[in-house]
Amino acid sequence: MRTVLRTDVGKARKINEDAAYAGGSLCIVCDGMGGHQAGEVASNQAVDVITAALSSEEPSVCGLLDAVAKANEHVYRNSLSDKRLTGMGTTLTMLWMDAGQVILAQIGDSRAYLLRGGVLRQCTHDHSVVAEMVRMGSITPEEARTHPRRNLITRSLGTDPRVEADIFEVSRRPGDRWLICSDGLTDHVTDAEIAAILAGDNLYEAADTLLALALDRGGSDNITLILLEDEGGGDTP
Ligand code: MG
Repeated sequence: MRTVLRTDVGKARKINEDAAYAGGSLCIVCDGMGGHQAGEVASNQAVDVITAALSSEEPSVCGLLDAVAKANEHVYRNSLSDKRLTGMGTTLTMLWMDAGQVILAQIGDSRAYLLRGGVLRQCTHDHSVVAEMVRMGSITPEEARTHPRRNLITRSLGTDPRVEADIFEVSRRPGDRWLICSDGLTDHVTDAEIAAILAGDNLYEAADTLLALALDRGGSDNITLILLEDEGGGDTP
């Protein structure tokens, strides 16, 4: 398993409210929101709680859902205990890999993409106002990219006593390449561009190219991305 993680404050924001983790078979991207620096607190707490909860666990859907519930409870409780943190929350897109499959958990509008056999597929569904509008046919995917409400999410971790994560399970195949990213990337880079760049030989170069493209086009938000190449077999005894 090879992973590359890049995170950047972008060109418009003062602080980076994204948080991420890539290690072993676990990758997490969280995009925090809230006034002042509360978003940064929410995203970092979510990553910390989940990585701690899963550090000695074998990958399973149950274990993953438990960790997400723990993180939600932690962020929610903290948001109530400190006025400056009121209403903070975060997206969560995470990938956990075992010997045979990849488990994804999704809350909000960060994304997981899979490039397999040259074809790119978004494996998560955004929980956002514009994604709902696209599903209902009231706007096109192209219109969603520039819609004024495109950053409004309909589900987040830490803003309510309970949260439901979408779970997706995908069988592994050697050579698969995964991208987990915040909307700071996908606001500026199209799926077709992601597919072309992800297909390049060098994973590190691909990560740098994606980040540079988002920055060149304005870097209007924090940008976080993790690339993972599944070299297949031998990862789990
Ligand atoms: Mg963002």
